[in-house]
Amino acid sequence: MDATCALCEQAEAIREVAAYRIRVCADCWELAAEGWPVSAEPVLFKALAKQGLLIADRNENNRLPRDYAPPADFAL
Ligand SMILES: [Zn+2]
Repeated sequence: MDATCALCEQAEAIREVAAYRIRVCADCWELAAEGWPVSAEPVLFKALAKQGLLIADRNENNRLPRDYAPPADFAL
C-alpha cells in the first residue's frame, strides 16, 4: 500500500479520504478543513477521473469539499 500522502508526497499518509479514494497526511487533511486548496485540485481531479468518480459540487468557499458521501445511486 502506498503510505505517502497523495498531495504533498512527503509525509506519511494517515487518513483515507473516501470521496476521492486517496490517502493524505495529517497536515494536508487539516489544511483542507474548509475545502481543498486550489493547489490540490489537479491531484483530486486526476484521482476522480482515474477511478471514474463524480466530481463534487464546490462548497460555500468555492472549494472542493474535503470529503462527502456519494449519492445513494452511486455505483460503479
Ligand atoms: Zn500531505
